[in-house]
Amino acid sequence: MDYKPLQWRCKMAIPSEKDIELPLLQEIQAAGGEARPIDLYDSVARHFPRLTQADREARYQRTDDLIWQNRVRFARNDLIKKGELDSSDWGIWQITDRGRARLGVIPSRDRVIIFDTTLRDGEQAAGGSLNIQEKLEIARQLERLGVDVIEAGFPVTSPGGFEAVRLIAQEVRSPVICVLTHADLKAVDQSWEAVKGARQPRIHIVLSSSDIHLFYQLRKSRDEILEMSCSTVARARKYCDDVEFSAMDASRTEPEYIYKILEAVIESGATTVNIPDTVGYAMPDAFGSLIEGAFKNVPNIHRAIVSVHCHNDLGLAVANSLEALRRGARQVECTINGIGERAGNASLEEIVMAIKTRQDFFNLTTNIDTTQIYKTSRLVSELTGFPVQPNKAIVGANAFRHSSGLHIDGVIKLPLNYEIMDPKSVGIPASSLVLGKTSGRHAFTERLAELGYSLSEENFSRAFAAFKELADKKKDVTDKDIESLVAEEQRTLSEFYHLDRIQVTCGDRGMPTAAIRLTAPDGQVLADAALGTGPVDAVYQAINRLVGVPNVLTEFSVKSVTEGIDAIGEVLIRIESEGVTYTGRGADTDIIVASAKAYINALNRLLSAKKAGSKSS
Ligand SMILES: [Zn+2]
Repeated sequence: MDYKPLQWRCKMAIPSEKDIELPLLQEIQAAGGEARPIDLYDSVARHFPRLTQADREARYQRTDDLIWQNRVRFARNDLIKKGELDSSDWGIWQITDRGRARLGVIPSRDRVIIFDTTLRDGEQAAGGSLNIQEKLEIARQLERLGVDVIEAGFPVTSPGGFEAVRLIAQEVRSPVICVLTHADLKAVDQSWEAVKGARQPRIHIVLSSSDIHLFYQLRKSRDEILEMSCSTVARARKYCDDVEFSAMDASRTEPEYIYKILEAVIESGATTVNIPDTVGYAMPDAFGSLIEGAFKNVPNIHRAIVSVHCHNDLGLAVANSLEALRRGARQVECTINGIGERAGNASLEEIVMAIKTRQDFFNLTTNIDTTQIYKTSRLVSELTGFPVQPNKAIVGANAFRHSSGLHIDGVIKLPLNYEIMDPKSVGIPASSLVLGKTSGRHAFTERLAELGYSLSEENFSRAFAAFKELADKKKDVTDKDIESLVAEEQRTLSEFYHLDRIQVTCGDRGMPTAAIRLTAPDGQVLADAALGTGPVDAVYQAINRLVGVPNVLTEFSVKSVTEGIDAIGEVLIRIESEGVTYTGRGADTDIIVASAKAYINALNRLLSAKKAGSKSS
């Protein structure tokens, strides 16, 4: 690729026109030249080789472009002097309507912007299984991982998500915090309210572009869509300099229409334009051509960053994303472990490691601290309840495990024989440290930090008490045990009902019976007992008698967190109520207790979603 797209790097006040025009004229005259726009721009234009001479002339003869480009020249020199810009970098200004400008930098080596949507697309798939603390925990880890943009939620469609976006915007300061909204003026206003506390806020507007969505879902004409796109982008730009627009279902849309939309939304102020393969339908080569076409057919494309968002319905999300990067896209939207709607999104760790491992092929770089990948993957899996398949690339349990004798022999002689990546480079610990009964607060704090947790004083005390209790029951406390118990503690933070006591009798002759005591939201203690077909069924029947929320159990699974008979058992359940799925998880050395905790957890999530829903309507 001989062209390089922009990255917005810094914002500053625009130098005044007077400061610029005069020295510029003097400079030209000193060189014996005439002040024709085209003379001024030749040096600038060299850095935009995609523009034809005719393009340049057309663009540069416009007065506003003249002023715009003059400012580039002077402000750039200024930034180099201040050491904020490398002299091998080049950039353009984008002038905002609030009298400020920001610089789009074209770096000497192309960097890909990693846009993480685990908390939006991923969370959508997790059936609202993340509470606000868990979302914040993941956002903090994404910050440590070094993602450039965190899409924190879609608050207009999920009222519970509003508070989470607001909190993340306040607490997580390094990355851009992005909020998704559909193309509706009111929705844009509301979304801004959620994200406005961020240090670097972004509003992301999504609107369908394919005929199939237009005619059958939205019932709008192409012109109406274009109008909605532009007016909402313009509205968002009133609030915020960083606005992304997504042409949903782009891979099934006529390219000419996509390009028309992109040109219009960039003109209205969009600074990132996203071309998603929303339904996972694209094939790499065709998708790459669609991206490349944007650079050829959208005259103002260099004023925005081109982004892609691929789904994995045909297992091609990562392949399509990489092909798009190869053909000029410079932002990629992805999720940890590839979680997301249906078959999921492009997996962040696979994209990042492909770019890193095959630098010879891509000649690209990212800002990601790859040694944080494994930790992030574990955290997301733990908190969302989506296990990682053992053979998953990069982060699966077997990803770096060799079983063939020939391979093992080769790796022992020289890892490079069969390992294209060093497991340490993705942060897989060389040996698993074990804590025990004698481990104190200090060791526990250190272990937590290494696992990626940063708990408040109060949460730490609770987790430490739980750790001590576990260490009494179990000789070795491993990392997985710690992750499991911290997650359990976090789950109980925002409870409506709290499990107090549980007593179960069962066996092959008796009738499985469970007695349950709960604390209700109003502090009242409730108790009841029930029979069931087995101990877990009895527990659920007893809880149902106390809580009385109709639901259907759709999934129940138990797994042990570590090896050994004394291991923690982790129960994951999914229940359905009014068409929405809620996930519940519980962990305990007693699997019946874990099952009860998981059920209470799912009911609490259901009640919390209902409460949030009724508040907003
Ligand atoms: Zn998506």
